[in-house]
Amino acid sequence: MNYFEFDVTLQEVPGEISLCFSICGCPLKCDGCHSPFLFKKENGKELKEDTYQTILSRYRNYATCVLFMGGEWEKDELILRLQQARCLGYKTCLYTGLENVDIQLLNHLNWVKTGKWIPAKGGLDSVHTNQEFREVDTGKKMNSLFQKK
Ligand code: SF4
Repeated sequence: MNYFEFDVTLQEVPGEISLCFSICGCPLKCDGCHSPFLFKKENGKELKEDTYQTILSRYRNYATCVLFMGGEWEKDELILRLQQARCLGYKTCLYTGLENVDIQLLNHLNWVKTGKWIPAKGGLDSVHTNQEFREVDTGKKMNSLFQKK
């Protein structure tokens, strides 16, 4: 599983400091995608075990969540990475363009963002968006946390 970028982010998961990995190989190819460099599986570099563990250890007392931007097409490896994150006390989140997420993946997630990028509808900060951000355990939709009052 290759990743293009690793960032520490504050906005993608409300109330959490997230270690965010953008995974290469997105098959959805949404019109107007902001990250077309994620289409090719071969882009970026391999998310190696030692690299991943080093990042998780380094940020353990600072960050609170591990967030994957895609990667559901590498289900077994993604589940492993989510398990490893939870073992170290991190919460977990997946951003996907799919409408529905495999139950086996959901079992390892605290939050999930679903829905393709449709420029005319906007992202989670738009009241017209098709995308949904949900807490997995309760199924509660939390889009309002992204929208300005
Ligand atoms: S799901 Fe995200 S990364 Fe994939 S094509 Fe759509 S906007 Fe781009």
